[in-house]
Amino acid sequence: MTTPDERDIVHWADGALLTGSPTGWADVTNPATGQVTGRVALASEADAAAVIASASRAARGWGTTSLARRTQVLFSFRELLNARKDELAAIITSEHGKVHSDAMGEIARGLEVVEFACGMSHLLKGGHSEEASTGIDVHSKRVPLGVVGIISPFNFPAMVPMWFFPVAIAAGNAVVLKPSEKDPSAANWLAALWQEAGLPDGVFNVLHGDKVAVDALLTSPDVQAISFVGSTPIAEYVYETASRHGKRVQALGGAKNHMVALPDADLDLAADAAVNAGYGSAGERCMAISVLVAVDPVGDELVARIADRTRTLLIGDGGRAATDQDASGKEADMGPLVTKAHRDKVSSFIDSGEAAGAKLVVDGRDVAARGGEEGFWLGPTLFDDVTPDMDIYTEEIFGPVLSVVRVRTYEEAVALVNANQYGNGTAVFTNDGGAARRFEADVEVGMIGVNVPVPVPVAYYSFGGWKRSLFGDTHAHGTEGVHFFTRGKVVTTRWIDPANRPEGGLELGFPRND
Ligand code: NAD
Repeated sequence: MTTPDERDIVHWADGALLTGSPTGWADVTNPATGQVTGRVALASEADAAAVIASASRAARGWGTTSLARRTQVLFSFRELLNARKDELAAIITSEHGKVHSDAMGEIARGLEVVEFACGMSHLLKGGHSEEASTGIDVHSKRVPLGVVGIISPFNFPAMVPMWFFPVAIAAGNAVVLKPSEKDPSAANWLAALWQEAGLPDGVFNVLHGDKVAVDALLTSPDVQAISFVGSTPIAEYVYETASRHGKRVQALGGAKNHMVALPDADLDLAADAAVNAGYGSAGERCMAISVLVAVDPVGDELVARIADRTRTLLIGDGGRAATDQDASGKEADMGPLVTKAHRDKVSSFIDSGEAAGAKLVVDGRDVAARGGEEGFWLGPTLFDDVTPDMDIYTEEIFGPVLSVVRVRTYEEAVALVNANQYGNGTAVFTNDGGAARRFEADVEVGMIGVNVPVPVPVAYYSFGGWKRSLFGDTHAHGTEGVHFFTRGKVVTTRWIDPANRPEGGLELGFPRND
């Protein structure tokens, strides 16, 4: 084992950094330069046990801390994060590659959940029924679970953890976050911020690593719940393994989101939307649009307008000062892909789409990017005449590749959306309210946009897909999130009033209400 140096990214437990005894280290790169910027510890089983133990020690005290005090910490965290979000955005850009404004956007959506969780006192209120039966009152309450695990993907290193941990913490749980090993630094920055906000040590912990760390969370008897976000095969594995170990699980998986353009759609708005949702964050969003379903006769016109727009996009290092980007000072629209391996995989999908006979309208392999020569660049790519048997249609590519499928009718479009194994998000572009209303009813998808291409629900609604995009039955944040991170108790009470004392006596029959 080598000696840790300042570029090492290690676990956070008991309010301090913990190196432990890693099974190894994984390189962390800046995708815009291709340079290794640090290395992250891959936890051993003993390290995982130490981090989980930190959370276990803190859980009871935090769970019994007053709601008023817990909420004050949430408000402080919100203020600090809002004041220092630029710092976090720079960290995200340096390890993920998304441009600064996009990183700020992800933080803004995470902040929304923190703000939602600031209202936990209201959200945890139970019910009370006086005189439910003669002399008997009933009340309900929701109590924290204890220790909860969050396992997150690379593509939103701040927002996805923030879908869960503000709600979990405000509800009185202690958290172990296992971030992606590709961009792990945001998690440690957030841990230090919680400490500054006054959260007791041990309530928020970070466990870095790979399968060893994940398996430790899934099987530990001290972890009560798992919130997972990542690819479908791992989501399914996480769901099955953690359920088998008696935990409640929400495991959000992959996606293939279809945008349907109906004949009456505003084609300029639809083309803008397809470009923004297809290529934003280099297509590395679970709510990215990866399939555009063009209902006759809009296909030719829409493809031409999208192709024109892709040629105006600036691909570059999102971490450099805006003035470095082009003569006008414009920030890059799109950054690099997260790793070289991922860029190469996405690029190989372009080869395969071409070989399968799809029409390559814009080829991102020819990209000229403003950034390091060794950066993991790939430009926006547009395929037309894609058919559902091609692997560029069936597979989640998770890169800047947009496939256009032509259909003749609305019914064909809906049938295509519903036949897909995923059901995360979808959008319809139309000016016909009746058609939009019908689409909303017909599609088997969890999140729907009407003239909105990335319909990520606001924090007080819940985020989650259908079919193989989510395993479990509870979506993230909103009231479903509060429900997930608490369990219910119902208390039936009879106080003896001396002036009206019940007769008592033996009665072995099942209690009746009267
Ligand atoms: P991933 O599945 O490779 O990794 C997710 C997490 O699982 C990481 O923390 C990783 O360390 C861990 N992991 C990876 N392989 C594992 C294994 N064999 N055993 C145990 N743990 C393992 O996903 P990713 O590449 O980081 O993220 C991209 C994926 O996430 C895409 O499929 C995307 O659609 C999905 N995603 C979904 C949503 C959603 O809301 N449904 C949101 C964001 C991302």
